[in-house]
Formats: sequence, structure tokens, C-alpha cells
Amino acid sequence: MPSTYASRKGFSGERKDRLEKIELKAGREKSVLRRHPWIFSGAIASATDGIGSGSTVEVVSAKGECLGYGSFSPASQIRVRMLSFDRGRVPDASLVSERIALAAARREALLSAGYSNAARLVNAESDGLPGLVVDLYAGHAVAQFTSAGAEYWKGTIVEALMANLRGIRSVSERADVDARRKEGLDFKEGLHLLAGEEPPELIEIHEGAVKLFVDPRKGHKTGFYLDQRAARRTVGSFAKGRTVLNCFSYTGGFGIHAAAAGAAHVTQVDVSSDALALGRRNAEATLGPGYGEKMDFAEADVFKHLRWCRDSGKRFGMIILDPPKFAESKSQVLKAARGYKDINLLAMKLLEPGGILATFSCSGAMTEDLFLKVVAEAAEDAKRDFQIAARTGQDADHPVSLAFPEGLYLKGLVLRAV
Ligand code: SAH
Repeated sequence: MPSTYASRKGFSGERKDRLEKIELKAGREKSVLRRHPWIFSGAIASATDGIGSGSTVEVVSAKGECLGYGSFSPASQIRVRMLSFDRGRVPDASLVSERIALAAARREALLSAGYSNAARLVNAESDGLPGLVVDLYAGHAVAQFTSAGAEYWKGTIVEALMANLRGIRSVSERADVDARRKEGLDFKEGLHLLAGEEPPELIEIHEGAVKLFVDPRKGHKTGFYLDQRAARRTVGSFAKGRTVLNCFSYTGGFGIHAAAAGAAHVTQVDVSSDALALGRRNAEATLGPGYGEKMDFAEADVFKHLRWCRDSGKRFGMIILDPPKFAESKSQVLKAARGYKDINLLAMKLLEPGGILATFSCSGAMTEDLFLKVVAEAAEDAKRDFQIAARTGQDADHPVSLAFPEGLYLKGLVLRAV
């Protein structure tokens, strides 16, 4: 092996050193034994000073038993994220590459089915790669490294993505994620190319017959809400002939699916003028230059717009509510519940008889049970009866590890007013 290889900073030379040990407090090994990947700072009895950010540590119980290996994050409350529960497998570049290859293989069927050319390739903890999200848009991968461990393995991850994906054109990074601050990592705006060719300003993807432009530099998350793919399809299947109000439309996804499926008219509502501008381009790409006959765009606060619709006597055959996360943590759940109830109650009153309400929550802290309860209370106050016609959740490219319930966050109900 040439000496330059072993002496590269932070590369193989460092990793061959004896691993630092992190000893847990008595009893705190339980969640690790259940294969939950997070170890909070409060569970740790002792850790040597100066362990490098993202470097691999051996995790041992108070009795000195090896529980596996994880990535150390000195700045975060989540001090260690487990990479391996196998005592015989010290994480190294080959383990990380294998996980990437496996994650990509899991999306193979979805992508080769041809419905869409965009998918989440790596879903963090649930794909055995804590803190790593990779979304693929027509051959361009956009990654977020939101843990010290993911940042540490960045070079290996990029190489593995380029090596394992057929037709891959680039790997870029979005580093404007708050989680990076909690991990002591730098926060940067924009898109940063890591390998391959520079992606275009807008990347064109499709979902069935719907064409959508994704802005990987300024768009939300990595550019688009891939998690709602299945829900957009389901909502489309209920849309024919209806007058639709798509609230929190972002770049118009639900509304354009509804229009493509034969909705009579769609109004897209969002506070972001940039999102609506891209929504107009998306509408034109799918529906043609005459899209304005079937679709309009309102730059408005949904809470106010729904009240304005109520006061002006408007009625709709379908209303979609896909708001941003109202609860960031458990402590905000009560306040969030009031927000969900408010918009759902207003929307329910605006529905024609037989109308459809497609309502979603992406707050992980809000459980499915609680969401159902809040929506049921809204129906009670609206004095209307509803059937659950369909239930939706994050799509198949957002799998959730059974040992990591935190990965389950998105839920949706398609309700029919009776
Ligand atoms: N349904 C979309 C994703 C919605 S994301 C899709 O399938 O692609 C949430 C959107 O809500 C964002 O575009 C954000 O700009 C918008 N938003 C947040 N608060 C809002 C408010 N009070 N009124 C209107 N839009 C809002």
C-alpha cells in the first residue's frame, strides 16, 4: 500500500487505531440491545476526552460487554449513532459501501417499474446509515449529511453512490439543514457538487404522466417531497370531475395530479411565491399552455384563505391539506393539535356533499392515533359525518426500521363527507 494512502488525514491510517470505548451507565444498554440506533449523552458513564467527531467507537455496557459500534458525535445530545450491533464487524469503509449498495438495491424495483425516475435512495437510520439522506432526481443524487458519522464517511458514501447506481450523473450535497448545527457541523446554503457533472438549474422528474421540475439548490429538503408520492397518486384517483382546493401546495404536486386525473378545476394555495412560480411551470409542463383554464394559484396563508372561502360562500368537491410540520417535538403536540383541528374543521365545512378531504400530518411527534382523534373532533365540531376512504403514509422508498419508530412520521387520511 503506498504510504500516501495510509497517511491521508482521517482516512485508513486513523481507522486502524484501537477504538475508543464508550461505557454506558448500568441499565442503559437496554435500548441498544433492542437495536435502537441512538445513544443519548445521559446514558453514557464515561467517554475519553478528545474523541474525533464522527469517529467510530466501541460501545460497552456497565458490565464491560461489547454491544456494537457507532459513530461518536461530541456536540450532539445523541452522542453515538450505532452502525453495527455485530461484535465481529467493526464498521469500516466496506461496511458503509455495502449499506449504500443494499439501500440502492432496495429501490431497484420501484425505479425500474418506471412510474417515477425520482426516489429516496437512502433513508438514514432505517437503512442502517444514521443521519444520511440521499434523494435521486433523474440521475442526480442530492444528499444531506445530518450526523457527525455521516459527515465522517462522506468520501466513502459518495464513491459508493457513484459506483452502485446505474445511470448516476452526479452526487451533490445540501448542507442547509438545522440538524447539522446540533451535530457541530457547518451550515451552508445552496447545492455543493461532490462528484459528477453539475446538475441543471431545474431537474425534470416525472410521476406517471405528471412532469415536475425540482429545484435542488433552493427547493425544500433536497428539492421535493418524495415521501408523498403514493398519496399524490391516491388523491388523483378521487379527483375526477371535482373542484379542488390544494392547500400548502408547494410546487403543485397534489393539484397537478388531480388535474391530470380529470379534476374540473384546481386552486393551488401556498405562502411561498417561489413555490407557486415553479408550480406554474409544472402545471404547464403537464397540462400544456392552456393550464390556466383548469388551474389558478393563490399566494396566501391557508389559515386566512380557508376563512375567506368560508366568508365568501365557496364550496369544493375536494380539499387537500398537506401542511408543514406543526410539532417539532412532543412538547409542541398540544399546540400542533389545535392547528390541525383548526384547518381540518374549516375545510370540512367547505366540502360539498360527497366531497373528499385528503388530510396529512408529517409531524413525527403526532401519532397516527392522535391525528385520527383530532380529525374526528374536527368532524364533530363541523357537525358532519365522514368515512375513511383511504389511508396513506410515506412511500416504499421511505422504509422504517421496526427498531426505530422515530422514522415513522407521515400519515394521511382520505375522508369522504357522507
Ligand atoms: N404538498 C406538497 C408539500 C407541502 S410542504 C407536495 O406534495 O409537494 C408545505 C408547504 O406549506 C410549503 O410549500 C410552505 O411554503 C407552505 N406553507 C407553510 N405555512 C403556510 C401557511 N400558513 N399558508 C400557506 N402555505 C404555507
